[in-house]
Amino acid sequence: MEFSLAYAQEQDQKDSLKSFRERFHFPQHNGRETVYFTGNSLGLAPKTAMTALEQEVNDWAKYGVEGHFEAKNPWVSYHEMFAEPLANLVGAQPNEVAAMNGLTSNLHLLMVSFYTPTPKRYKIICEGKAFPSDQYALQSQVKHHGLDPKNAIIQLFPREGENNIRTEDVLAAISEHADSLALVMIGGVNYYTGQYFDIPTITKAGQHAGAMVGWDLAHAAGNLPVKLHDWEVDFAAWCSYKYMNSGPGSISGIFVHEKHVTNPEINRFAGWWGHDKERRFLMEPEFKPMLTAEAWQLSNAPVLAMAVHKASLDIFMEAGIENLRAKSIALTNYLEFVVEKVSDSVENASFEIITPSNPQERGAQLSILSHGSGKELFDFITQEGVIADWREPNVIRIAPVPMYNNYEDVYRFGEILKRGINQ
Ligand SMILES: *Cc1c(COP(=O)(O)O)cnc(C)c1O
Repeated sequence: MEFSLAYAQEQDQKDSLKSFRERFHFPQHNGRETVYFTGNSLGLAPKTAMTALEQEVNDWAKYGVEGHFEAKNPWVSYHEMFAEPLANLVGAQPNEVAAMNGLTSNLHLLMVSFYTPTPKRYKIICEGKAFPSDQYALQSQVKHHGLDPKNAIIQLFPREGENNIRTEDVLAAISEHADSLALVMIGGVNYYTGQYFDIPTITKAGQHAGAMVGWDLAHAAGNLPVKLHDWEVDFAAWCSYKYMNSGPGSISGIFVHEKHVTNPEINRFAGWWGHDKERRFLMEPEFKPMLTAEAWQLSNAPVLAMAVHKASLDIFMEAGIENLRAKSIALTNYLEFVVEKVSDSVENASFEIITPSNPQERGAQLSILSHGSGKELFDFITQEGVIADWREPNVIRIAPVPMYNNYEDVYRFGEILKRGINQ
């Protein structure tokens, strides 16, 4: 690898996914595309988003309520279009996934079904400093069952002097609490460090201890290929506005393993869109769940948000998540190389990458921890046209997204970073 424009452009020429960049709108800075490295926070807008929205708004204008049946994509069954592409992206069967609600809402709904504490089994293992919304969700679930979060929530931290949580330490915590463990729920890719956890190994260990195992895939879905069905994960949820490019606050997705969806007795909060499809409009008083993940749906589909989600998933189906992952590994490796080159070029470089260096333990994100004036450096790169993400106390997160970022973006970032350090 080489930290040069010529090398970067040569790699871009060879990239079989290079044309996908043109399918997205890039925010501009001083008349040129920004270096957009925040697809882990809000993915870019696909150019097809507007067309997809117009289709539904026009059908609404044209048909009114009849659009439920007459629209090009009839709204009554709109959500069914998501089963195939979502299953493809998260390694599931179509009967195991549904697009619905927001992520935090879905975590709650899934915990209603899969966190059912007893006096003996009530503990939850999660990562320390999980994403705040997940912490609030876990704490409030625990309190909802009359328990004290201090006793019930076991947080895992990296060892002293390390940045990431070792799998062996997760497994040790699971065995230590095996008799009282009800749930393991961890972010598949940690939002702060970018660590990608060993989902199959941890899932197996948690279930072996007698607990349910769920994953928050906010930073994993659309970023790396996962195999939720084969790994026998109990449940998972994600949002679609990060790597899935489906627009601010757009619809979330859930996975519930087949072994649970086929159980009509499972406890859940129910709504009419989870009721047996054939009988939904008979307006019967008694809930009869579908035997698919759709049973967790409460409401009829928010078609306008879902239209954009569908437009974006279509692009994913064309690109292929395995192809994206292959490019992602190479692109993130190049970013790491460039950041290290820049760091080597100055004396006493005051930052380090806290994301695992093993490509199998990370996705499309590197988190740079600054030991010096990180905020000044961040402000400088922002002024120079880099859109990155600042997390207190001292971390810059950068995500080269394989769908639309390229090697030249990484090169430009390196140049700007170098100037920022030397200023
Ligand atoms: C982005 C993110 C969320 C956001 O939750 P919303 O309900 O979509 O606002 C929650 N958890 C994690 C781990 C996230 O990365």
